[in-house]
Amino acid sequence: MHGKQLLLGHAVAAGTQTFQARNPGTAQTLPTPFFEATPEEVDRAMQLAAAAFASFRITTGGQRADLLRAIAESIEAIGDVLIEQAQAESGLPVARLQGERARTLNQIRIFADMAADGSWQGARIDTSIPDRQPVPKPDVRARLTGLGPVVVFGASNFPLAISVAGTDTVSALAAGCSVVVKAHPSHPGTSELVGEAIARAIARVGLPPGIFALLHGLGHATGLALVKHPATAAVAFTGSERGGRALFDAAVNRPVPIPVYAEMGSMNPVFLLPGALAERSVGIAQAFIGSVNMGVGQFCTNPGLLFGIENSDLKRFFSTAAEGAQNTAPSTMLNAGILSGFEAGVSRMASVKGVEVLGKSTATADANKTQAACTLLSTSFETYASQSSLHHEVFGPSSLFVRCVTKEQILQAARDLEGHLTAAIHGTEADLAEFRELVEILETKVGRVIFNGFGTGIEVCASMHHGGPYPSSTFSAFTSIGHASIFRFTRPVSYQSFPDAALPPELQNSNPLGIMRVVNGKLTREPL
Ligand code: NAP
Repeated sequence: MHGKQLLLGHAVAAGTQTFQARNPGTAQTLPTPFFEATPEEVDRAMQLAAAAFASFRITTGGQRADLLRAIAESIEAIGDVLIEQAQAESGLPVARLQGERARTLNQIRIFADMAADGSWQGARIDTSIPDRQPVPKPDVRARLTGLGPVVVFGASNFPLAISVAGTDTVSALAAGCSVVVKAHPSHPGTSELVGEAIARAIARVGLPPGIFALLHGLGHATGLALVKHPATAAVAFTGSERGGRALFDAAVNRPVPIPVYAEMGSMNPVFLLPGALAERSVGIAQAFIGSVNMGVGQFCTNPGLLFGIENSDLKRFFSTAAEGAQNTAPSTMLNAGILSGFEAGVSRMASVKGVEVLGKSTATADANKTQAACTLLSTSFETYASQSSLHHEVFGPSSLFVRCVTKEQILQAARDLEGHLTAAIHGTEADLAEFRELVEILETKVGRVIFNGFGTGIEVCASMHHGGPYPSSTFSAFTSIGHASIFRFTRPVSYQSFPDAALPPELQNSNPLGIMRVVNGKLTREPL
């Protein structure tokens, strides 16, 4: 482990400021000092990314697919060392990290397949009608192309799947964008191992080494300098609302504003409808406890807010969930800052008059192991509705139950929601018919509505939308997970009246790449 920046595939460090990661499970400081990037290194990384983008943008989909497959192989070749490093830096269990590595590799290969196929470019062709009256119709064709150098912020809660080789990086590479990653300071060693693997893969396939750089930084200076750099075309971020908003504000205040695709906080409201509670309140409560504690609650899809109409079935749900919380052993969070944020958030909610603790891990949390206790809180609809401090995410294993009395209160709670990533409805088909308006309201509030399940455990697929209205994300039209996440790093270019041979291959009459295109309104792979 060298603890340096990765530029052109080489380890470099001109600075003198260093920081060390900490094992949250043992409170031990890990041995490697990591050098913070200097302003000159930030500038160099972006200049290199800009220079490399010019040639990388016009590589073939096949070349980019080869690169992505080489990256997957290179990460696989690291072996257990990667899991051990990630475990030491995150405190996450080995099985979870093995699962996350499998997801990461799967994501990389999904984008490799997309790059190879090429249909993601959304080619559209409208052929000319020279004798159209009153004016001739020109030949117009369009397809997506890479946006430019992308800055990716590694997320603390997914040291593999949303970090150095996570969805943001690999979707940007698939689109032909160069990438500069700002490693999350909680897992710099994991970032270095993966960054080195990417650099090896780039060298193996013979692409320009400037298409990837990895920078370290403990404070906000490195990240802000990257966002403000004139060569940066877009930013991808997963983390807190405060962090995402700071980067977004910096980006829109540049002389040339750029998009910051930030995926931020979300309470992921859950609506427990009467028919489902009458049928299976105990089963739903058990599944809920599993979801709220998954990853020690450190998922942006964690169910942090529940609404139900008070009756004996809801009481049974509450008592089962409370018992589940009591039986939950306190677990290690990702870092001391996240634990203190969690504890402050729970205290903030619990101190509101009318909020009570419904259930909490019976075993004492060990601060030396950065442990959090699962905590469930409960309050009335009136208290919830009047206290805005109850409407903000507490990142970790906690949830607030809101007791409603009428159907109208359930609908009002939904109408008053801010933007969230997901919402879940537990119901029967009769409940859904009775609460049809609830679904209609939620469609305007979240990016994904789940029936009889919870938002945790995101499927990586073409139809996944992981992004909701602000403040859950800055651009609700874009997803940060799944195939469609590539569109964040692209822009369309139209070509009007071009000779066939001068068009990009995706738009030529013979369709030499065999991609799916919309030709005069019809989806086809056929040549013209
Ligand atoms: P964070 O505070 O959002 O930090 C993530 C990145 O954003 C860091 O690399 C940080 O850069 C940068 N950043 C944060 N605040 C900034 C600011 N004011 N100006 C410029 N850059 C800023 O996330 P975290 O450290 O991983 O965890 C802290 C909290 O974030 C958690 O307690 C949780 O509430 C939330 N979080 C949410 C999610 C989610 O999925 N939505 C995931 C993880 C965390 P520097 O390293 O340079 O400081």
